[in-house]
Amino acid sequence: KEVVHDICTNQVVVTLQACVKELVENALDASARRIEVRLRENGAELLEVVDDGRGICAEDFEKVACRHATSKIREYTDLSSANFSTYGFRGEALSAICAMGDLTIATKTETAAASLLSYDRYGKLLSSSSVARDVGTTVSVRELFKRLPVRHKEFTRNAKAQVNATLRLLQSYAIAQPEVRFAVVSEKLRGTQGANAANRATLLCTSGAAADWHQAAAAVLGDAALSGCARLRLEVGAWRAEGLVSSPGAGRRHRDIQLFFVNGRPIDAPKRVVKLINDDTYHQYNSRAWPLVILAFTAPQGMVDVNVTPDKKTVFLHQEDQLLSQLQAALTEVFAGPDR
Ligand code: ADP
Ligand code: MG
Repeated sequence: KEVVHDICTNQVVVTLQACVKELVENALDASARRIEVRLRENGAELLEVVDDGRGICAEDFEKVACRHATSKIREYTDLSSANFSTYGFRGEALSAICAMGDLTIATKTETAAASLLSYDRYGKLLSSSSVARDVGTTVSVRELFKRLPVRHKEFTRNAKAQVNATLRLLQSYAIAQPEVRFAVVSEKLRGTQGANAANRATLLCTSGAAADWHQAAAAVLGDAALSGCARLRLEVGAWRAEGLVSSPGAGRRHRDIQLFFVNGRPIDAPKRVVKLINDDTYHQYNSRAWPLVILAFTAPQGMVDVNVTPDKKTVFLHQEDQLLSQLQAALTEVFAGPDR
């Protein structure tokens, strides 16, 4: 049974980025307004996500890291109900993380005292003690990958790329959730000031006070990155899409700033949408660059199926065809516009 646990769970959280994503989603699901991600030695020694959300109540301490334990679905039928609104509902993330590193959780709800909890590699609660902290939750993972030597070796080989990918994901959360304060702090012991001096760097810090995602994007990516971008706005049935796209005349852009959100959560770039924007439209006008794209979709929950892949980043967009043809028309208007 334990072997099965390891084999199955390792597929859920395979990278630093995937691990951080699950922990940040949990913080958002707990209605956090401040989220801080701390990485020590690129996250390999310590990965910590601190939030000010509602905390975990004592009756859940035993089960939060059990496979399929989730407080987010009362009955299975909730999965198909139209008002289902949290993104974490598989109860696999914390369980999977336990199989990879040492999990401890410090948490406090509005009504109870704070507790410090530690779990074994199978997600079983090992100990519970009292601790001091404000309402919220700190999830700490020590020595992520320590039980997976091959993955650990791979991680240390390209840690920098993994941290960058993680940072890019957190930037997109910071844009998608302008009212949440995000901070990312990286700490390294092997600093320039000698063996014992810790080297701290703040990689991302947002105010949580941006009026909308447009302002948040300017704060995260810089005004310069957004200059020369046109606004997009579409409505198809119950779908709404709002976005920013740079015109072909605006020059070279980084291909990696193409961000897509559904109902305030980042998703993997949908293949059809990406092809439509780049190959089918933008490259008709400028084949040597890629547009900067930020596209935020909103729809009633019943129209979005996030339960497609374990990482929940792939979504089905109902009425996708109509949406895409309107998007193409809007893009053509921008790309062929007076800017050129
Ligand atoms: P899921 O998010 O799919 O429910 P997880 O394994 O990610 O499964 O988390 C298990 C449970 O732990 C959640 O359902 C929630 O009750 C609790 N939990 C995890 N992280 C937090 C957090 N930051 N704040 C409050 N509760 C949390
Ligand atoms: Mg979760």
